[in-house]
Amino acid sequence: MSHVAYIGIGANLGDRRAHIRHACDLLRQTDGILSLKLSSLHETEPVGGPPGQGAYLNAAARIETLLDARMLLQTLLDVEARLGRQRSEKWGPRVIDLDLLLFDDEVIDTPGLTVPHPRMHERRFVLEPLAEIAADAIHPAAGMTIQELLGRLSGGEGMKGGCTGGAVRKPE
Ligand code: ADP
Ligand code: MG
Repeated sequence: MSHVAYIGIGANLGDRRAHIRHACDLLRQTDGILSLKLSSLHETEPVGGPPGQGAYLNAAARIETLLDARMLLQTLLDVEARLGRQRSEKWGPRVIDLDLLLFDDEVIDTPGLTVPHPRMHERRFVLEPLAEIAADAIHPAAGMTIQELLGRLSGGEGMKGGCTGGAVRKPE
């Protein structure tokens, strides 16, 4: 039985496009990952974290997988490590950040894994790319679609997309 998962991707160090492409290639090569479809890339200003860090490139991806949620998270962490991510400061700059946003309609709350991702519903830089590929997906804890969550962030403007997102690039 295969599962559908959505992940959030962010990069703000070095060749951000290359890091995102590399991470997607590694995920596609992983046993148990059947397919990966990437959204377009959105240039966004950093939210939180230390002052002075560079702009992010954010994206979302739809993954079809035979892995369970925990194995998929471990795969994401392994890919982060292979790309040389070092965890120093919370929300500090990173070559790649891979977050598990949704996994089927599962709600998981364990010390190492929370799904849906606990901050996704309030982050435009997550919801905007996600809405391109999963507008009608249901956030099982909020009981709303991604499009509805995005619209709620900005009193409706988010429905059209592209408020703080800046340049939107074509999919890879
Ligand atoms: P953030 O993405 O908020 O900047 P990190 O990427 O440093 O933070 O993630 C910190 C930890 O959060 C990871 O090591 C992971 O074990 C844990 N975690 C829990 N739930 C999730 C999830 N849904 N997606 C990604 N990481 C998660
Ligand atoms: Mg993360």
